[in-house]
Amino acid sequence: MLVSYERYSPVNYIPMTPSRRTGRKEERETQPVIFEADEALLAEAKAIGQDALRVISKLQRSGHEAYLVGGCVRDLLIGRAPKDFDVATSAHPRQVKRLFRNGRIIGRRFRLVHVRFGGEIIETATFRREPPESTGDDGDLLIVEDNEYGTAAEDARRRDFTVNGLFLDPFGGEIIDYVGGLDDLDDRVLRTIGDPNRRLPEDPVRILRAIKFSTRLDFRIEDETWEAMKACSSDLQRSAPPRILEEVLRLLRSGTALGAFKRLRSCGALGPILPGLNKYLSDFEDDAPRTQSFFSLLEALDADIHSGAQLSSAVLVATLVHDLVAAKLPPVDAGSSGPTVREIAKAADSILDPFTQSSRLPKRDAAKARRLLTLQGKFTNAANERTRPLLFCLMEDFEDALALFRIRTRALGRGWDIYEGWVDRARQAASLSDEELTVERKTGRRRRRRPRKRK
Ligand code: ATP
Ligand code: MG
Repeated sequence: MLVSYERYSPVNYIPMTPSRRTGRKEERETQPVIFEADEALLAEAKAIGQDALRVISKLQRSGHEAYLVGGCVRDLLIGRAPKDFDVATSAHPRQVKRLFRNGRIIGRRFRLVHVRFGGEIIETATFRREPPESTGDDGDLLIVEDNEYGTAAEDARRRDFTVNGLFLDPFGGEIIDYVGGLDDLDDRVLRTIGDPNRRLPEDPVRILRAIKFSTRLDFRIEDETWEAMKACSSDLQRSAPPRILEEVLRLLRSGTALGAFKRLRSCGALGPILPGLNKYLSDFEDDAPRTQSFFSLLEALDADIHSGAQLSSAVLVATLVHDLVAAKLPPVDAGSSGPTVREIAKAADSILDPFTQSSRLPKRDAAKARRLLTLQGKFTNAANERTRPLLFCLMEDFEDALALFRIRTRALGRGWDIYEGWVDRARQAASLSDEELTVERKTGRRRRRRPRKRK
């Protein structure tokens, strides 16, 4: 079965008679299917991956195997701009290091070489193989060590998804496929390499990666992989919290957070990674007001990212916990001016503290997320005599607080005039001269001064 490139547009590869194409899985494990890469793809790789190509060229000229690998090959093939370029090689780290004055060996458990060109780093990793299966007494498949060198075939097979397991030789003009990745790319399918019931428990973070890639690339998750994701989702509890947090933040920043969180929820991964949020949503259908409100925030977050916003982790976390914090606030009485800063801070702590502990969210980010939540009232209570709008605009956290307010406004679908008003004030504040600033500060201070207590 040849890749049906007619179905695939833009066509970035053309099938040729593979050097050894049997289609039989057993043989494919050691004999790759090789495709000829088309000129446009190679030209693109040369244009944007110059530094990686320099690394590959030098390694190949020194007699080593070396290819582009992973996400960059996948992205080039589907016409997306790769985030970065990774190189895989048969050369061992010390051999790589010897070839590049600008190379540095990093990593303790698994060593790879960072080759630096100006601001760009090309990660150059020696082919690895999966460690021998180390099932403990309890049948635990979790990989704890991952540091044995291997062949190109073994390196491809230890990767997570077929579409991430392709090599591209930019000089030989070949795409080298040991894992059926090109067929899956053609069908827009995300599938684990090998048995998902083994590959996912081995490293449960792959469940989150599956969700990330499927939503970001708009790929369907293959049925067996999806079933295994559901069956193994509780294994996420055993993964290192910082890795999980990193993936959660990536999902929030992906521009497809809404789809990703819906998928997290439906495969049962939300509970193990964000128990507080899962509990908050647990008994509610997708169309319940509580769920809708949370989804609207994620939708607004996605829109914000698409319009080019660069959001800090604190804004992402504050968006994530916003509704949970609001639900902890005392009910608002008619005529009252809403919750006090202290009440919001207390509610935020009750949500963020367990989150910080379970997910190792840095305390700095949690504290900032809390501040952003407590500052939200200032945007709508501008009439409050205590608020000095121009000085507020110059506060360190103002920009992030405004980003959260923008996301909330977008989610609510009204109040843009208030947001725009703050954008104008921020502009005005930025153009204040030193003298005007001094006057503004004094005015504020005078207004805030309390009457002296009589002795
Ligand atoms: P992105 O565009 O988000 O960078 P990527 O595919 O390049 O996507 P990376 O996290 O940069 O993803 O990883 C590079 C490659 O390393 C992947 O394409 C995959 O082949 C392999 N890889 C990364 N994480 C895992 C994992 N947990 N298990 C197996 N292979 C992995
Ligand atoms: Mg990458």
